[in-house]
Amino acid sequence: MRSYLEDLENCELCEWRCGVNRFEGEMGICMLGKPEVASTTLHPAPPQSYTVFMAGCNFRCLNCQNWTIAHHPMQESTIIGEVRPEILAEEAVKRLNSKRASLIGADRIFFSGGAPTPSLPYIEKVVEEARKIDESVKVNYDTNGFLTESSLERVIDISDSITFDIKAFEDGTHRELTGAPIEPVLRNVRILAQKSVEKIWEFRYLLIPGVNDDEVRGLAKFLSEIDEELPLNFLAFRPNFVLENYSGIQRRKLEEAVEAATEAGLKNVDWSGMPEVSGRMKKNVRSIRNGVGCCETKRGCGTCESKLNCPVKSYVPDRRT
Ligand code: SF4
Ligand code: SF4
Repeated sequence: MRSYLEDLENCELCEWRCGVNRFEGEMGICMLGKPEVASTTLHPAPPQSYTVFMAGCNFRCLNCQNWTIAHHPMQESTIIGEVRPEILAEEAVKRLNSKRASLIGADRIFFSGGAPTPSLPYIEKVVEEARKIDESVKVNYDTNGFLTESSLERVIDISDSITFDIKAFEDGTHRELTGAPIEPVLRNVRILAQKSVEKIWEFRYLLIPGVNDDEVRGLAKFLSEIDEELPLNFLAFRPNFVLENYSGIQRRKLEEAVEAATEAGLKNVDWSGMPEVSGRMKKNVRSIRNGVGCCETKRGCGTCESKLNCPVKSYVPDRRT
C-alpha cells in the first residue's frame, strides 16, 4: 500500500525540486526529514481557527517572525515533534467544537509554519482523518507561494480558504528577502486566481520600509489585471531575525500603500498588524545579510554552496518583537 509520506522519498513538493530522500537523511533546502508539528493553538486572527504551525520552511527570509520553528526547530525544546495524523485530526476537531472556539468564531484548521508545503502529504492525511470524524471540517492553507503546480492543485483540493504571502514583487527584492526567485510565486498567483478564486482568503504583503514598499503599485497592477476584486492585505513589518534592528513600518506608510494599491485598480485592499515598532538600523538589507555571512551577490539558496551550512539559517537574534 502506498504510504501517505511516499513523496518524501524523492521530494519535489516545492519549487526547489530537490529530489532528495528525506527518509534517508538526505537534505533539501528545507533541511527537513519527516514532518513535525511545532505547536497548535486556537487563534483569534481572521480566519479564526485551530492553527497548526508545522516545523521548517523552504525559504530563508531575513525578517522571519517564526524563526525558531522555521529555521532551527531541532534546537527548540518547545516543538511538539512527530504526531500521528489521526491524533492531530481528533484533537483539531475536538478543539474546534469547544466553547472557546465558538467564542472566538474558530471554524477551520489553519495550516501554517514555517511553511506547510514541506509537510503537505502529512497535512492531506490530517485533513482526511479530520473529515472522517466531521465531514464539514474546514481547512485554511497558508502558503508562501513557492510550491510546484502539482502541489498547488493538491492544496486547492483540500482547502476551503487559502492565505497567500507575497514577500516582494521584483525578483531581486524577493531573492534578497527570501533566497528564492519570484517567478513561481507569481505563476501560482495566476493559477490560483484562475482556477479557484473563491478559495482565496487574501494575498498578504508584509510591508518593509525602504525594502519592498516601492513595489506596491507594480504588485497591485499585476493583481488587478488578473481580477480587480482580488483581496490584498498589507501586514505591518516588525523587526525580527536578521532584520532585528531594522525599523518597523509606520502607520502612514501602510495607509499610503492601501491608497496606491487602490489607485492601481484593486477594490479590496486593507492593512493589519502592529506598526511603529522602533528600530535604529540604517544599513541596507544586503549589507546586513553580508554581515551575518550570506555573501552571495544575488541570493539563490537552491544553487548556493552554503545551502546545507547556511549562516542565515543558524542566525540567533538578540531581539524579538
Ligand atoms: S525544499 Fe522543497 S523540494 Fe526540497 S526537500 Fe524541502 S520540500 Fe522538498
Ligand atoms: S548563504 Fe546561501 S543558502 Fe544561506 S541564505 Fe545566503 S544564499 Fe541562501
